[in-house]
Amino acid sequence: MKIHEYQGKEILAKFGVPVPRGIPAFTVQEAVEAAQKLGGPVWVVKAQIHAGGRGKGGGVKVAKSVDLVKELSSQILGMQLKTHQTGPEGQKVRRLYIEEGADIQKEYYLSLVTDRATQKVAFIASSEGGMDIEEVAHSTPEKIITVYVDPLVGFTEALGKELAKGISLPADSEAQFVDLCGKLYKCYMDTDASLVEINPLNRDSKGNIIALDAKFNFDSNALFRHPEIVAMRDLDEEDPAEVEASKFDLAYISLDGNIGCLVNGAGLAMATMDTIKLFGGEPANFLDVGGGATPEKVTEAFKIMLKNKNVQGILVNIFGGIMKCDTIATGVIAACKAVNLSVPLVVRMKGTNEELGKKMLAESGLPIISADTMAEAAQKVVAAVK
Ligand code: ADP
Ligand code: MG
Repeated sequence: MKIHEYQGKEILAKFGVPVPRGIPAFTVQEAVEAAQKLGGPVWVVKAQIHAGGRGKGGGVKVAKSVDLVKELSSQILGMQLKTHQTGPEGQKVRRLYIEEGADIQKEYYLSLVTDRATQKVAFIASSEGGMDIEEVAHSTPEKIITVYVDPLVGFTEALGKELAKGISLPADSEAQFVDLCGKLYKCYMDTDASLVEINPLNRDSKGNIIALDAKFNFDSNALFRHPEIVAMRDLDEEDPAEVEASKFDLAYISLDGNIGCLVNGAGLAMATMDTIKLFGGEPANFLDVGGGATPEKVTEAFKIMLKNKNVQGILVNIFGGIMKCDTIATGVIAACKAVNLSVPLVVRMKGTNEELGKKMLAESGLPIISADTMAEAAQKVVAAVK
């Protein structure tokens, strides 16, 4: 789960990580009041969307008067902000963060992630922070350093110093930086985050270190331990189809292709997408209806898939283990009738009550294309959408 920058900074502040003073605003009026409350002379008006790259997209602007805060806020609020992370359609700005302007001397990069290869939490840092970190990673990866934390030891001062040295931080800022790294590590562990990224981490002309941006991802499997973080969820920032699917306990991820997939089991769903691609097709989604899918759940799954205007065909691939094929057949028939299905549908089922399920589909009178193997099913659906 992701949260907004201003929410991330609220969490950072709780852990003692220095952040600028700021106030979120949902209207231009609130933005003006926030600017007055903060006091000048410099403010930054920041679009709050879950994607990064806002600065380059025109979503972060400096203002040197309250009037300018007002003008910039009315420009940014409601705009369709396009960044390299939003996709070409962009994301509508519904919230702003009005922040005091920082005295920037040098921008560093600092993040914490869980590294699966080493099974450790890793600090990633660079002397070249700011809006071009992707370019740094691409052209001069040696300027990005990674330091792993031993889970049994936790964060140590030595580790902080290693990071400071790695980013050539001036000596007068080292103590503050090491302290910040320790607090950030505690924050990462205590909140069950899977990413905390501070870019830029600013060093001002007095040598003080402060976090100017904050990006958090949290491990969804641990959210039950953090109701205060769940409360920060902003459904406007999430894919509506995925939000809808989560209500029915369906694991659904939107993709770019035109073949809808309905599968039971995540592994089989992955294999189904691979098979579709192998035969030249493109999946429109990942969808795992799970082991205990009811006919109602299958109907909802069809509705969610068909909300995607790009879907030109559907492939149902079911392994009847605990789930029986006739249950799925009941669900598929009910769903086809409920949604008045108008795109080709290929069904492949194997396992418990397979014969009964196939018979039900054949006798339903619906134009269902049946297939026996995964390869046959994929070929048939790819042909049907061409
Ligand atoms: P994004 O990463 O989405 O582009 P940031 O919050 O990093 O958004 O802002 C982009 C740039 O704007 C930063 O690299 C920094 O140079 C500048 N900036 C951000 N916040 C402030 C602030 N409070 N004071 C001064 N400059 C800021
Ligand atoms: Mg940033």
